[in-house]
Amino acid sequence: MNIILLGPPGAGKGTQAKLLVDERGMTQLSTGDMLREAKSSGTEMGHRVAEVMNRGELVTDEIVIGLIEEKLDAPHGNGFIFDGFPRTLAQADALGALLARHGQHLDAVIEMQVDDAALVERVTGRYTCANCGAVYHDRIKPAATAGVCDACGATQMVRRADDTEDALKQRLMEYYKKTSPLIGYYYAKGALYSVDGLAEIGIVSAAIRKVLDKT
Ligand code: AMP
Repeated sequence: MNIILLGPPGAGKGTQAKLLVDERGMTQLSTGDMLREAKSSGTEMGHRVAEVMNRGELVTDEIVIGLIEEKLDAPHGNGFIFDGFPRTLAQADALGALLARHGQHLDAVIEMQVDDAALVERVTGRYTCANCGAVYHDRIKPAATAGVCDACGATQMVRRADDTEDALKQRLMEYYKKTSPLIGYYYAKGALYSVDGLAEIGIVSAAIRKVLDKT
């Protein structure tokens, strides 16, 4: 089963993707994570994307499609969760073609609906474990012991360079201009399901589970 988690920054796509990886053995493909890895690796591509990402703009379709294409060749267990990809209509077309080339298709696109006011608080309070990637939040979900990861015990927590209010405004603008048309695109293909992304984490994951169990 291959699915897309679609929604603005801070909608909870990464959190829900990680739960699905644990519960269903699916493979999470986050272009944001791949780009952050490239950014910290010091490669030429990393330098090129770093500034664009820090400003909250989208990197080119060519780069992210290339990243996804490489991953689709690897073994993937129980299917892919596309998290943060596609973000443009060109990426959506490319994904359809890539999956078809691998004899696969998309089973569901899950739109996580949230309102903008909630996103600012969610995104600006967010931090993750540098070791295992577990996601926390200053107010909504702090680590049980400050500075120590509940999941793996590591003691280095990191905040994203683009989780600031200014970068978030730009990321939201990009979302509404370039990514939100995908809602209509996948609705027309009969693949769109919507869940309330503002609900508590367990309730959102139950809603997603319900969609996946009936598709
Ligand atoms: P994310 O972690 O998904 O919020 O992505 C962080 C940043 O990486 C975005 O603000 C973009 O600059 C870049 N990015 C991630 N995925 C894509 C994509 N599919 N297309 C273009 N840029 C992307």
